[in-house]
Amino acid sequence: MNDLNTMAYGLKNGNVVFIDDVERGLECESICLSCEGALIAKKGDVKVHHFAHHNGDGDSCNESVLHRLSKQIIEWECLISTPTYEVSVEAYDISDQVHKKSHIEESKVLSVDSVSLELASIGFIPDVTCNESGKKLYIEIVVSNDVSEEKLEKVKLDGTPMLVIDMSDFSAMDTLDTLKQGVIYDAPRYWAYHPDHEAMKANLKNDLRFEVSILDEKIISAVSSKLGLVSKSELLKPKTNSELIVLGYNSAYGYSKKNNRDFDFSTLLVAKPIQSTGSSNYTIRSCGGYELTQIAFNEGLIPELAKLRFPCLLDLEVSGSFLGGRVQSIVTNFKIV
Ligand SMILES: [Zn+2]
Repeated sequence: MNDLNTMAYGLKNGNVVFIDDVERGLECESICLSCEGALIAKKGDVKVHHFAHHNGDGDSCNESVLHRLSKQIIEWECLISTPTYEVSVEAYDISDQVHKKSHIEESKVLSVDSVSLELASIGFIPDVTCNESGKKLYIEIVVSNDVSEEKLEKVKLDGTPMLVIDMSDFSAMDTLDTLKQGVIYDAPRYWAYHPDHEAMKANLKNDLRFEVSILDEKIISAVSSKLGLVSKSELLKPKTNSELIVLGYNSAYGYSKKNNRDFDFSTLLVAKPIQSTGSSNYTIRSCGGYELTQIAFNEGLIPELAKLRFPCLLDLEVSGSFLGGRVQSIVTNFKIV
């Protein structure tokens, strides 16, 4: 049933009535919960039984009736299932790995002491105001529109938690049991405002920062000892590589389907003299000329690189940097020779 002016509920002698509980036709003696226009009970053999407006009006009454009934149900039942509440923060360690920390309060069914509908508050009227052991809780029922920013600002000033229940998947043609189940338990809901949020977030952030700083020290000492260095400053100290032939540069980012992750790189192509020094198990018999090597560069250098004519001779300032848990050389500056 999609007609916007039909519904299964009416108001008779001040009480909400279901279509099954009234006489047929105008004998139902009911009015619309929203516009208060006279209703006619259509209880034929073909269509699903419903109320229609006697005068044919009430095009948007279904939504208002659903909204009103939803509030009424909370008042009748004094029960509400709260949404899961989650605060998450993240921080990066020195090797660029992300770390997360969250605080989660599971959803629970609140039995509230009292419920008031449309009670005027500070600058706005929440749909439902609940009292639970002396604490206030606002509930907004949304059917077609979300809660406005203006209203949210007022709730924040007031400092009272507010949860929003989205009843847009329901209709005033649903049975009362369906609507009860929806409002109290099943309909999507979220915290529009939770007064502990900022403090909770700040605490989590502090804890995470402390944990990451300890981790950073561990990474630094692990990498330093592996490379036989004594300190972080020595590890990351810039070095100048003089008079290198730079052939070009390339900076790109995107998404790799193969590796299933984002990539982002900035690389200089450098021709450097082939190393003529060997090692204990590696003896150079003879060598000459240049070999091609790639060095990452800081993307802040792109505007300056874009002005160069390649190939060219450059002095490169290279620093150590932690990337993906490893120390990598990165060009942080250059001078034209
Ligand atoms: Zn109406």
